[in-house]
Amino acid sequence: MGIQGATGEWEIVIGCEVHAQIVSKAKLFSGAPTDFGAEPNTQVSLVDAAMPGMLPVINGECVRQAVRTGLGLKAEINRVSIFDRKNYFYPDLPAGYQISQWTHPIVGKGEVLLDLPDGKTRTVGITRLHLEQDAGKSLHDQHPNQTYVDLNRAGVALMEIVSEPDLRGSEEVGAYLRKLRSILRYLGTCDGNMEEGSMRCDVNVSVRRPGEPYGTRCEIKNVNSVRFAMQAVEYEARRQVDLLEDGGTIRQETRLFDSAKGETRPMRSKEEAHDYRYFPDPDLLPLRLSEDCVEELRAALPELPDDKKERFITEYSLQPYDAGVLVAEQENAAYYEKVAKGRDPKLAANWVIGELFGALNKKGVPVTASPVSAEDLGGLVDLIADDTISGRIAKDVFAEMVETGKPAAAIVEEKGLRQVTDTGAIEAAIAQVLAGEAEKVADYKGGNR
Ligand code: ADP
Ligand code: MG
Repeated sequence: MGIQGATGEWEIVIGCEVHAQIVSKAKLFSGAPTDFGAEPNTQVSLVDAAMPGMLPVINGECVRQAVRTGLGLKAEINRVSIFDRKNYFYPDLPAGYQISQWTHPIVGKGEVLLDLPDGKTRTVGITRLHLEQDAGKSLHDQHPNQTYVDLNRAGVALMEIVSEPDLRGSEEVGAYLRKLRSILRYLGTCDGNMEEGSMRCDVNVSVRRPGEPYGTRCEIKNVNSVRFAMQAVEYEARRQVDLLEDGGTIRQETRLFDSAKGETRPMRSKEEAHDYRYFPDPDLLPLRLSEDCVEELRAALPELPDDKKERFITEYSLQPYDAGVLVAEQENAAYYEKVAKGRDPKLAANWVIGELFGALNKKGVPVTASPVSAEDLGGLVDLIADDTISGRIAKDVFAEMVETGKPAAAIVEEKGLRQVTDTGAIEAAIAQVLAGEAEKVADYKGGNR
């Protein structure tokens, strides 16, 4: 997990700030729609464009989504939270400030359980979750010497989810982001789509000698895939170790990850000079939540990945690792449960994880677009369980199912793959074959082996 430098062992310390776009039809303080990929500037209300005299009105659904997320992160829900203005100039921020939460976020301390490859788990602390508006987008590639501004994204609701510096290497960062994404998707509060930017991560990295206090961190901004986040950590930690071992010091700074080059580099210092002058937004009253409202949302939470994993381990006697793989996506877990119902759950798990996920990966489709339905995979498992076909033949049958979409039984009949287990029938068949080769049998018996 650590790094072996020229002068000994170093530990990597990471904390993540994840921006997760809330699933909601309308923006945080306006009724404008939030659909991804719409024509530029077609989803902009007067509030989003910061026209004079416009007032923000809080979207209750976005608040409920943030509370649901807090509950899913086993976090404290703050019954009173405050919206602040975070002031800065940027062409895609017409108001000159972003409405965010600073001193009183809606959600306080919580936790996320990491599922590690060896089947063990580790708890990562969540520091806070706050609500804020997204900014618009500057488009630099539409014209050779002009920049365009698209305000469709301006005012869209984000949750900023801040972790404690509890992560200890790129693998854990990967596990954390995947787990957080999984929880958000189960809750339906964020679609977790990193390519479309609805989940983005700022990765804070520092290194230290084991047991020493935390070192100075660098923040790598806006990383947009789990793989890039892991690469950024690897590169950045190595850079810091090399610098320290050469007698240098780490400057706290904001850096960018260049995915083409696989390296991090400093942003221009102007972009990182922070003087946000936060103050409570005079247009918005403190946000108060009733206990009833919070409890109602708690009662309506779905079964979340950790609980489902525990249930899979006890109900289906699965290994923790396999259970973790199956529950990562709700749809995968539902598919598995259909296959496992009334069948050997371990055999079902092997087929879903080993064969089905492999085939889906190759095709690059999610389980919801699987060419083999859960019923049909269950049918295949039945044919193995009742010895109609062997496990080896079943792999060929499965490959055919993936190609043709036909059920297993039809393929077995069509290709005459039925396995014979009646020993009487097998002996009769052998006798028949031997009778047809009387000469060779006699040869053999005569010692010509
Ligand atoms: P800021 O408000 O300047 O962004 P925070 O103290 O809120 O700073 O921390 C932001 C993120 O940086 C958090 O996710 C936190 O866990 C992480 N972090 C803080 N100190 C360190 C450190 N020494 N090394 C790595 N990450 C750190
Ligand atoms: Mg920060």
